[in-house]
Amino acid sequence: MKKTPKIGGELALIEQISRLFHSRQKNITLGIGDDCAILRPPAGSEILVTTDFTLEGRHFRRDLHPPESVGHRCLARGLSDLAAMGATPIAAFLSLALPGSMLENAAGRAWIARFFEGLRTLADLHRVPLAGGDTSESPGGNNAHILADIVLIGATPKGKALRRSGAFAGDALYVTGHLGGAASELFTMMRRRRLGNAKTTEDHPHLFPEPRLDVGEALLRRELATSCIDLSDGLSSDLAHLCRASRLNAEIEQAAIPIHPLARKSGAIAALQSALHGGEDYELLFTAPASRPMPTSLAGVAITRIGTLKKRSSKHPMMTLLAPDGARTELNPGGWEHFAKPSTTRNRKSS
Ligand code: ADP
Ligand code: MG
Repeated sequence: MKKTPKIGGELALIEQISRLFHSRQKNITLGIGDDCAILRPPAGSEILVTTDFTLEGRHFRRDLHPPESVGHRCLARGLSDLAAMGATPIAAFLSLALPGSMLENAAGRAWIARFFEGLRTLADLHRVPLAGGDTSESPGGNNAHILADIVLIGATPKGKALRRSGAFAGDALYVTGHLGGAASELFTMMRRRRLGNAKTTEDHPHLFPEPRLDVGEALLRRELATSCIDLSDGLSSDLAHLCRASRLNAEIEQAAIPIHPLARKSGAIAALQSALHGGEDYELLFTAPASRPMPTSLAGVAITRIGTLKKRSSKHPMMTLLAPDGARTELNPGGWEHFAKPSTTRNRKSS
């Protein structure tokens, strides 16, 4: 691991950030340092924008998540939204509020430096420059929290962005990678009640999820998908979003769901629950005409067919789960929903 750089007050912090993140890139005319950044999107493109909060106590806990993971996840969430629409990232903007005490002590400064290290490693991997942001002290004195809001700007060729609403009845339903790993890793961390330990970013589906930008871009470029969404809330919840947007029903084949090896360790029933309802896997869920040949992997990521889209009908539930014995049951959204009333079946994120 690299030596942790020293960070002083706010100005020094911004200077530190701008040194860490070079924004020399063909789509950035001006990065950190002026009142605004100047972007030059590729000719013939449309701009896609997404923003995501990362709030201490809601999306991460300082006693469970290593700072590199918090920085990584902060950026990964926005990148995954771009991936879901087949976009190529152009720039990220980070608004960060920190407890004043963090800038005053070595432990706090080290936390901030490691947060940026995690964010920068993922930004470098996907060549997305941090082109600006805002820095402020968070209110609350000794009880102040770390609050981050990231904005991601991406581009697609005009009219080509993948949407949730493009699926047709009869389309096949596909998923990338494996499901349930993030929920399993989080449950293990919560049970152990100590800081997650990650020597590498690999094989940590909760701490270091891998946004599927290359898959999203390939789906768009090769015109393989009719609709797409990223799995942030959980398969059952995100499929419901796709069904509603496309005005269709869906049937999932239970035996076809690619369950993450980490989830499998918890036994068949718990593994299935994690795969269906556990959020934050950041895989892509997409549809394509059933007759269109689909590669078994895209950009090195496994692609699995898990079901079929059906015409909407009041006689059938919006989502159905087909068990290996042929029994069909209604599948209800059981993933994450902010401000929802607590229920015993609802999965809790890292809050
Ligand atoms: P202003 O007062 O005009 O908003 P700031 O002092 O907030 O300027 O920011 C100075 C420069 O540093 C700007 O280019 C801004 O985008 C950048 N910046 C500030 N905070 C951050 C941050 N957390 N991450 C990235 N860039 C930042
Ligand atoms: Mg500012």
